[in-house]
Amino acid sequence: MSTRDNNCRATDSARVFDLHSHSDRSDGQLSPEQLVVRASERNVDVIALTDHDTVGGIEDAKSTALRLNLQLVEGIEFSCLWNNRTIHILGLNIDSTSDVIKGAETSQLKARAERAELIARQLEKSGISGALEGARRYANGGAIGRVHFANHLVESRVVSNHAQAFKRHLGAGKPGDVKTLWPDYDEVIQWIHASGGKAVLAHPAKYKMTRTKLRAMLDSLCAEGLDAMEVVSGRQTPLQTQELAALANRFGLLASTGSDFHAPGQVWQELGSQAALPRDVNPIWQAW
Ligand code: AMP
Ligand code: MN
Ligand code: MN
Ligand code: MN
Repeated sequence: MSTRDNNCRATDSARVFDLHSHSDRSDGQLSPEQLVVRASERNVDVIALTDHDTVGGIEDAKSTALRLNLQLVEGIEFSCLWNNRTIHILGLNIDSTSDVIKGAETSQLKARAERAELIARQLEKSGISGALEGARRYANGGAIGRVHFANHLVESRVVSNHAQAFKRHLGAGKPGDVKTLWPDYDEVIQWIHASGGKAVLAHPAKYKMTRTKLRAMLDSLCAEGLDAMEVVSGRQTPLQTQELAALANRFGLLASTGSDFHAPGQVWQELGSQAALPRDVNPIWQAW
């Protein structure tokens, strides 16, 4: 047992899992290959690449994982709506080459491209021009998103950092927060199941919902076949972990764990460094 196994099931006593990460095919900084190399260096045994609405990095990640003797779980992080709010549902252990995932990817990327135009138009109204071209340059042909706009806003000195970009221009309730183009959660869960994967509610604590609202959402999602939820996402307090574990058990959901890694230097979401799953939950890898 490694020291990290202390009182935990983030490992199955031998393996370290990180089931949520991003590459430069969406809004991460590393290429899929660099990401898997970093995971290996950090002693992760099982890594899921879960780029936003694209599986464009899976093939490269897979071949690197094979070379380095890591297990690569094919994944995706779908953006969707519940009650008109944007939420994220991970598809884990999907078949990324399946027609249903290819079709889903096409429609999600189209939605992202259209949303990018709307975001740019909104920013234009705030006196910020050229944002679409700037963001496209950062997306570099991948799944374009708000982080690419944030990069542009920082580069063009409209703001001094990402946090400010979201706080002033891109975050909830701000002009760049355009969210009406995503499909509803039931469709996304169907896509995931049709491709053989497990549907996992991502980072439940990040939606800033009241407990009542969160339970109402889980009721809806479970009625459509949600399989699991992230009980650990990035760095969080032990109390948060405990509450999320209780919620998973209450709804009969499997538990997942992931860093939500985007870039080196963000220590609160470094690959494989998230806390262990508590002992009293059923880890999602039991189903594999
Ligand atoms: P999108 O999927 O294009 O709507 O962008 C969502 C992504 O933006 C998240 O996955 C994060 O990577 C990033 N993000 C969201 N909120 C913030 C924030 N306040 N500061 C920095 N990055 C953020
Ligand atoms: Mn992201
Ligand atoms: Mn997310
Ligand atoms: Mn994510």
